[in-house]
Amino acid sequence: PKYVYDFTEGNKDLKDLLGGKGANLAEMTNLGLPVPPGFTITSEACRRFLEEETLPEGLEEEIAEHLDALESRMGRRLGQADDPLLVSVRSGAKFSMPGMMDTVLNIGLNDESVHGLAKQAGGNERFAWDSYRRLIQMFGKTVQGIDGELFDAALEELKGGRDDLELDAADFQRLVTTYKGIVADQTGENFPADPYLQMRMATKAVFESWNAPRAVVYRRQERIPADLGTAVNICSMVFGNWGMDSGTGVAFTRDPGTGHQGVYGDYLQNAQGEDVVAGIRNTISLQDLEGIDKPVYDELMQIMDKLENHYRDLCDIEFTVERGKLWMLQTRVGKRTPGAAFRIAVQLVDQGMIDIDEALSRVTGAQLAQLMFPRFAKDAESAVITKGMNASPGAAVGKAVFSAERAVELAARGESVVLVSRETTPDDLAGMIAAQGVLTSRGGKTSHAAVVARGMGKTCVCGAEELEVSAAERRFTAPGGIVVSEGDVISIDGTSGAVYLGEVPVVASPVMEYFEGSGEVGDEDELVQAVHRVMSHADASRRLEVRANADNAEDSARARRFGAQGIGLCRTEHMFLGDRRRLVEDLVLATSSEERERALAALKPLQEADFTEIFQEMDGLPVTIRLIDPPLHEFLPDYTELSVKVALAGDRAEEKDRKLLAAVKRLHEQNPMLGLRGVRLGLVIPGLFAMQVRAIAEAAKAVPGAHAEVMIPLVGAVQELEHVKEEAQKILAEVGVEALIGTMIEVPRAALTAGQIAEAAQFFSFGTNDLTQMTWGFSRDDVEAAFFSKYLELGVFGVSPFETLDRDGVGRLVLLAVEEGRKTRPDLKLGICGEHGGDPDSIHFCHQAGLDYVSCSPFRIPVARLEAGRAAL
Ligand code: PEP
Ligand code: MG
Repeated sequence: PKYVYDFTEGNKDLKDLLGGKGANLAEMTNLGLPVPPGFTITSEACRRFLEEETLPEGLEEEIAEHLDALESRMGRRLGQADDPLLVSVRSGAKFSMPGMMDTVLNIGLNDESVHGLAKQAGGNERFAWDSYRRLIQMFGKTVQGIDGELFDAALEELKGGRDDLELDAADFQRLVTTYKGIVADQTGENFPADPYLQMRMATKAVFESWNAPRAVVYRRQERIPADLGTAVNICSMVFGNWGMDSGTGVAFTRDPGTGHQGVYGDYLQNAQGEDVVAGIRNTISLQDLEGIDKPVYDELMQIMDKLENHYRDLCDIEFTVERGKLWMLQTRVGKRTPGAAFRIAVQLVDQGMIDIDEALSRVTGAQLAQLMFPRFAKDAESAVITKGMNASPGAAVGKAVFSAERAVELAARGESVVLVSRETTPDDLAGMIAAQGVLTSRGGKTSHAAVVARGMGKTCVCGAEELEVSAAERRFTAPGGIVVSEGDVISIDGTSGAVYLGEVPVVASPVMEYFEGSGEVGDEDELVQAVHRVMSHADASRRLEVRANADNAEDSARARRFGAQGIGLCRTEHMFLGDRRRLVEDLVLATSSEERERALAALKPLQEADFTEIFQEMDGLPVTIRLIDPPLHEFLPDYTELSVKVALAGDRAEEKDRKLLAAVKRLHEQNPMLGLRGVRLGLVIPGLFAMQVRAIAEAAKAVPGAHAEVMIPLVGAVQELEHVKEEAQKILAEVGVEALIGTMIEVPRAALTAGQIAEAAQFFSFGTNDLTQMTWGFSRDDVEAAFFSKYLELGVFGVSPFETLDRDGVGRLVLLAVEEGRKTRPDLKLGICGEHGGDPDSIHFCHQAGLDYVSCSPFRIPVARLEAGRAAL
């Protein structure tokens, strides 16, 4: 295979092979933009290297050829003593992983070529030595694994309180000596002077950084597959640290927070790459660059315009200015907040850049879910202690903690925490995931904290410069002498940037209010407008219907407001809780048919009243009512407690308690989930299902237009269903009500014999909670807490199969049941009502499997509508 591509050979669609950075560098090169020449080593080479633990055969020769070509083109050789070519070695995976992997700049410098570089720079010794010490520092840290603190401390000591701009050539030369000493100390070897060796070592290190712990954590969080590998970009160096006419910056073509068009970015004069993100000096805005270097600014604006038109989307870029000449170092379609995603999609439609289908494809259910989160009450009278930048929206309340470790620790105990630090690094990732929000005192909207938090949809306020954060003392001070120590509750508003002392009350989001308010839109709120337009298109596009899992009037009403087209699962056992439990007890304890009849007669009017309310709310839309499902013991007292009570009472124990204890003992099961529940219960307790069906029929008769469907749970054999169906049909006929009778498919045998079951069932609803439980043999109530984190870590699966439908296993059962069920009964109605009905990936699967509807909890309905629309594109 071909392992190396020149920038002129690739394009933006080759991300699998060249990574995002490499593919886009190639795209920009081919657009004629000023990109420093270079080449990309493919992610395939990385995969081979990680597998075989040695560079794949032929790779070194191929790299040498491309380097040769690059050298001829540039007219200088890598590290050439009198006139060196220097290169950067940068990682670049298919999916961006900000700051997760390694980059080494200035490869090619050594004790000789540093003089050549100074000569190139017109005798600028300071620049050359600064570049050299940066190489040793970055190389030492990322390639040789030396603690970066050692280098930082040496630099701080040298500076002695001075700004880094005040250091001169001699200072940096001294620093190079110190740094070389650190390297020799830490590795037992001298810093490698051979430029080709430097490049080879850096390339291997970038490959290996794919498996660095922080990268592994990030991929798991972002659901990025673990086996992609990273490409490596070797790029001829351009220098932003040449002098004040040079610099480096990052920019967005639109505001990634709001989506508004304009000029957004940061620029740092006389600095190199990582300095902007690391926040070593305060950056200036792009607007200020206009004043400093108008031609460069104008060219940058032109390029940004060109990129946005070419990619038809918000782009973010990294650039460097070398003595007044602009160079593009990176571009990509930029991350954005959920709100900006909706706004930008609709803005681009209005600008004629994309069509509405494309707009729909560019937003996700996960983003919509984010927008439905509550915000802080506007008029809340809380003390704002300072303001930072609104880096990632949302409202976070929690105890202040000052290290990632503490964040993880407290969150594991169920506490809400806000991670506070001067700035974050990729090592803080686990803490950021654990925290409700992140607050930093340094860095701008492009700092690590901001970029990562936005990517995760986590609330973040960054650059709150008035705060003095001391991680060592676990506290910060705010203006006015306010001291916040670990454990004190703070609230941060990622939409406004405000930081509050104490807990601020939160209110619903405008998007939530829009859904709650039955879809009325005023034209004042741009975000709500955008959501409305995209949702309308999703509704018009989707083939899947969306129903709700609801078992009371309130949830039914909400489901309708959110756009549900029916109820896909009404769990009747929820109607047996609370005060009614006693009635169920009576039923279970009944020893004669009279006692049983009496108990059932007491339950029936209550059931009927519940169904009536739901039919009224749903106003003619279909309501699928599932007959009672869970094991009976859930309705009975705890065995141990009751035994103790009876034993303590001795002879004085009440007759009723004795009987109850005997029943509880009789009904005790080792595996209740595999025991007497669902249809089994209906077949074992005479009259129970009949009472429920009669209650449904009579309620349906009483409500004009009511549309009931009767669903039998936990069926594994058509014979079970036939018994229940016969009785149910008789009752429906007696009352004079028509209703479909169907079954859940939630036992693997039901899926495997779906062809037979469809003889008796008029519809199937996939109960993928139980179907997953029984297909994997995972107790659904136990395993997630017990060992799923280990399984996720080991990569057994990338996401819990209870959350996202396991296509390879459970999915095959679903497909089989769909096919064989429809063969028996072509008009068989098919739906899903397990938790997966509200999960984006699973909804796409349901669309592909040809289901008629998905059913999910009321709050997930907008997400399901959106994803069903996207699935149909
Ligand atoms: C299911 O098993 O997927 C289902 C919807 O039923 P329940 O969750 O009530 O067992
Ligand atoms: Mg079930």
